[in-house]
Amino acid sequence: MKIGILGGGQLGRMMALAGYPLGLRFRFLDPSPDAPAGQLGEHICASYEDAEALSRFADGIDVATYEFENVPTASAAAIRARVPLYPPPEALATAQDRLIQKNWFKTLDIATAPFADADNRRDLERAVADVGLPAIIKTRRFGYDGKGQFVLRSWHELDAAWKAVGGLSAPDGKLPLIVEGFVSFQRELSIIAARGKDGATVFYPLAENHHRGGILRLTLAPAPDSDALQGEAERMASRVFDALHYTGVLTIELFQHEGKLLANEMATRVHNSGHWSIEGAVTSQFENHIRAVCGLPLGSGALKAGGGAGVTAMVNLIGDTPEPHQALAHAGLHLHLYGKSGKAPGRKLGHMTLTEADLPALKVRLKALAALPGVELPGVATA
Ligand code: AMP
Repeated sequence: MKIGILGGGQLGRMMALAGYPLGLRFRFLDPSPDAPAGQLGEHICASYEDAEALSRFADGIDVATYEFENVPTASAAAIRARVPLYPPPEALATAQDRLIQKNWFKTLDIATAPFADADNRRDLERAVADVGLPAIIKTRRFGYDGKGQFVLRSWHELDAAWKAVGGLSAPDGKLPLIVEGFVSFQRELSIIAARGKDGATVFYPLAENHHRGGILRLTLAPAPDSDALQGEAERMASRVFDALHYTGVLTIELFQHEGKLLANEMATRVHNSGHWSIEGAVTSQFENHIRAVCGLPLGSGALKAGGGAGVTAMVNLIGDTPEPHQALAHAGLHLHLYGKSGKAPGRKLGHMTLTEADLPALKVRLKALAALPGVELPGVATA
């Protein structure tokens, strides 16, 4: 069976690494000549809008999927006209626009921060008045890792906010924005879940995510003290699954606020906060995604270590990487390098995972990793 993946970044690469043991073959479409997945499978190097390349991509594959949500919906539709495409393109359309997504969460009774939409500078004032201060202003589309966002703490900052999110260069002074109430959350969590073609579902334990500079640095799974929240998170994911007749892996990023969960955003794909599952879970998010899109039975998402009693940390390598001998000198550590050539600030170049029997033991181990190049451990390593 041959799987076509739209996007050839590290997520596509890790999908292929999970799929090869199952006897599967892979083809990638990605405009970058150095796409990390291109080292592992056939790589069509072309734009996602190139009709001829999309047709070549679809030729001879059995099923298609994607590793990022900004695949143009018209391209997704063109692929779907030729071969099955999972998760469904309807999911893609919902995931691409923060406003559509939040309105849709509302219809599914999934709690979010208060929000309002704005299309121009005047609207922005009205939207901020609606949700109150502090607020966070985000572009509706194409934001990632905190880009296209501004935290507004006072009315005086409105002009600066409008400028920061790109308002000054917007055609006709129009820019689709969402304004959200700023949530003083206790912590950030994510739920990753998989649904097979037969409707069977698998849930991973909630993960606790630590960011710096808008970029994920550290994930702990399972999130400490999250048992009481797991059911609520699973219900949220189930509602999304049912509403979209979903196949594949889904991620919902969450805030824990006053003991409850608020959905921040969803990704209709495998996610950085699920990388821990490669070594930490019985079946990784990548393998379950591939199993789902191929119509194979899903595997358990339970923790592997200590009969499910351990805790796994995933540490991102951002902008720089340790030498393999440096990282692997830490007993039990697993290193993943994505095969990217250029070191650049903010670039995700790899990750490491480490499992221990309990959180105190894991924190001790993490402190020893803090000095490695590319590692930042907000909160935990210094706690
Ligand atoms: P996003 O691009 O929506 O995932 O936002 C990036 C990061 O900004 C999140 O991981 C949070 O740390 C923070 N953030 C986003 N929305 C809010 C909000 N409504 N209240 C507080 N912090 C937020």
